[in-house]
Amino acid sequence: MAFEDLLEDPVVQKYLNELVGPKGMPVAAAPPDGEVTDEELAERLGLELNDVRRALFILYENDLAMYRRVRDEDSGWLTYLWTFEYDNIPGNLHDEMVRLLDALEDRREYEEMNEFYLCEVCSIRFEFGEAMDLGFECPECGSELDAMGNDAIIDAVDDRIDALRSDLGVTT
Ligand SMILES: [Zn+2]
Repeated sequence: MAFEDLLEDPVVQKYLNELVGPKGMPVAAAPPDGEVTDEELAERLGLELNDVRRALFILYENDLAMYRRVRDEDSGWLTYLWTFEYDNIPGNLHDEMVRLLDALEDRREYEEMNEFYLCEVCSIRFEFGEAMDLGFECPECGSELDAMGNDAIIDAVDDRIDALRSDLGVTT
């Protein structure tokens, strides 16, 4: 996928936005061709240098940017030359989806294995064991806790699991 198409994908935009936040988004959304310094990026994008550095570092931690250091012969200062590695975005997204799918499958099992009690006043949910320890009385307001079905939650989790599995091409 070309960079431009990749960056127009709403899933990719959301992913980058969650990584770097709104302040880092101008950096993440405009990957330059070739090497660039943080100062150049800050100037080009009209951003605070700290915001640029923060975004670059987050991208680096997520394998989406690399740098090499060059020492200026005269001043001795180190310059960091950054390269964006957006070829890794599809792989990262895939890994994220696999992690999310695992978490949803754990959640489903937890919902299936447990019975829940609810304080309707406070909208707090308790596992059966907790509710029993509390004498089926809400610790916040003293109301009686009622048994609560969780079929709707399980259905919603199932829908998300199905959608993710189909996106990932998992058939099991
Ligand atoms: Zn309550």
